[in-house]
Amino acid sequence: MASQKKIVVLDRDGVINVDSEAFIKSPDEWVALPGSLDAIARLNQAGYRVAIATNQSGIGRGLFDMAALNAMHEKMHRMAATVGARIDTIFFCPHTAEDQCECRKPKPGMLKMIAERYDIDPKGTPAVGDSLRDLQAGAALGFTPHLVLTGKGQKTLAAGGLPEGTRIHDDLRAFALDFLAEEQD
Ligand SMILES: [Mg+2]
Ligand SMILES: [Zn+2]
Repeated sequence: MASQKKIVVLDRDGVINVDSEAFIKSPDEWVALPGSLDAIARLNQAGYRVAIATNQSGIGRGLFDMAALNAMHEKMHRMAATVGARIDTIFFCPHTAEDQCECRKPKPGMLKMIAERYDIDPKGTPAVGDSLRDLQAGAALGFTPHLVLTGKGQKTLAAGGLPEGTRIHDDLRAFALDFLAEEQD
């Protein structure tokens, strides 16, 4: 672990912010989940850099545009900064399933780019999500899958079929506490 770079990969909707079946289309609709930004601050304080990998097919569907996505992310960065949290990078997939791209989760494309960007061995690096496809995308490359029960998490847990070794946490705050406690063992 000593030589391993400290990276945590997070899904966005349902993990950091409240999710919606109708998509998050504007900064006004982007609302942080309780404690999620504090959890990121806590990870940062422990030396972890946070990267986001998020499917944003609302762009491909024409529900919102890049300017709206950028504005949402500006809000996210701004809200994060108020609690001393920093999100290092955001990888997003703008495609729909019909596009058959390599980046839309459960495909591992975005996580592969993150592993390359940070030059890490995914083994031992957590990938946190609320949907099965988040966990599958990470597990395919050897990231450790962590399911949070916010967003679609309860449904995902009930549906079963989680990748082997998936850890389960109530929310991102619980993930950060569990993960950092384990690191100190
Ligand atoms: Mg999600
Ligand atoms: Zn894509």
